[in-house]
Amino acid sequence: MRVVLLGPPGAGKGSLASVLTEKYRLAHISTGDMLREEIKKGTALGTEIKSLITKGVLVSDTLVTKLVEQRIAHDPDLKKGLLFDGFPRTVKQARDLDVLLAKADAPLDFALNMEADSDLILKRLTGRRVCRKCGALFHVTNKPPLSPSVCDVCGGGLYQRTDDNEETIKARMQVYQASTQPIIDYYNRQHKLKKLDGNLETADLAQALAAMLK
Ligand code: AMP
Repeated sequence: MRVVLLGPPGAGKGSLASVLTEKYRLAHISTGDMLREEIKKGTALGTEIKSLITKGVLVSDTLVTKLVEQRIAHDPDLKKGLLFDGFPRTVKQARDLDVLLAKADAPLDFALNMEADSDLILKRLTGRRVCRKCGALFHVTNKPPLSPSVCDVCGGGLYQRTDDNEETIKARMQVYQASTQPIIDYYNRQHKLKKLDGNLETADLAQALAAMLK
């Protein structure tokens, strides 16, 4: 099964991705994570990416698609199951992904769209904390770690993403409306669009997903 996750930042894509990777054994491809890895390397490219992410604007289609192409080339998971999280974010990326998957004779099965209310999104993102080591997600009030700033899963340190502040979240939402929303029509036209309610919390979301996949 090959799936694309769509929806504004904070709609719950990260939580759903955990369910899909653990329960349905899909390999997780997050372009946001890949870009943050590039930043960690401290290269000139990393510095450029950091300035774009901090402003909440998109990195170039060419760069992101190249990263995805390198990641899935000759990957055995391509046939078993892949989950694209945060990619595609433009119609150009969606078309390029279709071409990449067609070449590998492993087409996309469906795109899963999640929408959530904007005040909930703001609360989720400003309170989100991420494990520096394993990427596990926490929330200061909804899902606090047992010890402050320490990951329950691996003991790594928790941090707040630089783009999870109110000003950048608003910019990201605008970028989403302008660039990413048209992708929904793109997959709708292909009859590949499915919907889940991003206002649900993880346990209910997992149930809704299971019912949808039946
Ligand atoms: P995410 O972790 O998916 O919320 O992505 C964080 C940031 O990385 C976004 O706000 C963009 O600046 C950048 N980014 C991630 N994925 C893409 C993509 N597919 N195309 C362009 N920029 C991206």
